Amino acid sequence: MSLTKKILLGMGLGVLVGLLLNSLDPSIYDNTQKYLLYPVGQLFVSLIKMLVVPIVVVSLILGTSGISDPKKLGRIGIKTVLFFLVTTAIALTLALGLGSFFQPGAGGSAMQGGDFEASEAPPVVDTLINIIPSNPLDAMVKGDMLQVIAFSIFIGIGLSRIGTRGKDLYRLVEQANEVLMYLVQLVMKFAPYGAFALIADAIGSQGSDSLLKMVKYLAVVLLALLIHLVVTYGSAIALLGKMNPIQFFKNFSPAMVVAFSTSSSSGTLPVSMKTVQNKLNVPKPISSFVQPLGATINMDGTAIMQGVATMFIAQMYGVDLAFSDLVTVVLTATLASIGTAGAPGVGLIMLSMVLTSVGLPVEAISLVLAVDRLIDMCRTAVNVTGDATAAVIIARSEAGREDEIPVVQEQQQA
Ligand code: ASP
Repeated sequence: MSLTKKILLGMGLGVLVGLLLNSLDPSIYDNTQKYLLYPVGQLFVSLIKMLVVPIVVVSLILGTSGISDPKKLGRIGIKTVLFFLVTTAIALTLALGLGSFFQPGAGGSAMQGGDFEASEAPPVVDTLINIIPSNPLDAMVKGDMLQVIAFSIFIGIGLSRIGTRGKDLYRLVEQANEVLMYLVQLVMKFAPYGAFALIADAIGSQGSDSLLKMVKYLAVVLLALLIHLVVTYGSAIALLGKMNPIQFFKNFSPAMVVAFSTSSSSGTLPVSMKTVQNKLNVPKPISSFVQPLGATINMDGTAIMQGVATMFIAQMYGVDLAFSDLVTVVLTATLASIGTAGAPGVGLIMLSMVLTSVGLPVEAISLVLAVDRLIDMCRTAVNVTGDATAAVIIARSEAGREDEIPVVQEQQQA
């Protein structure tokens, strides 16, 4: 059986076991969670997380030094960021449109949410200034991805500038990359079990009551995510990437499944990069540049959740959002999704930034808390697909320009 089929089987079983656990005595769920689901799920998450920082460092150094022509790097950089911003704006427009059409929060003001401790979202200016790490090792230890990315890009630029003098270091990084990619393959063998445990745990822990209460909000978010996935990415892949969207989704599905079960874009990075390079034929330098950046700053799924949640909360509180408020939501949610780390649940914390921007109370996050775990899984799958779409499209737009051989490699060959 292929790995994808095994993972899908694991997920299917996870759903069934989760539903079963949910219908049985809570103590059965507690014990199963404690002794089986949590250890197995956590083991899988740790195994892939273990590879994230090294892979981001190594692949970005290779990616940046591979695109040694500063003009080409600038061009790819601009195209990547532009694509991220445009798709995020489309995602938010869709979220706000569906949110005002279906009115998921209308007339439900009697609803009660769980407890939510609102924590401060960092101001945007800080996020921007903090991109440059004052201590790169500290950034790696803490897993501060934006800082790790900035440092690796600097090293990559330096490496390509010093030419042959850096050839040993370049070889070393290349070999480290091979080892890490091999490890990704190894870790993925555990994915079916990890996916099973994570999904059974997520479904088993959600009381069906709390899910039912928020069914309308949940449905609108899921609909927006689906439309964005199929229509926005599908047509971008077909029109700009000149690839059959069905083929794209089929080949990329293993990475989507890992994103879904781990709820972490960063955690999925090793798998999604390998998939994009091997199955979607995106050149390594492009995938190594676009995807780590995307996993950190491009979160369309998260933006969709934030858009619909803001509409939902405004409707629950009977607040009418004016057009200017909606524009504010688009701007702050774009920034919030840039500042959201690709880790489970962070999007919800950043939602406080969006709510504050239009004067809604931060405590209202408790209204969407109960279903957020499920939405997190789905939005993370959308997040990583957005990055893969960008990689395919940018590779396509750079095709035919491959004559620009990276300086380091060229000098090594000479
Ligand atoms: N879990 C999401 C991700 O890693 C971030 C979020 O929206 O919470 O992409």
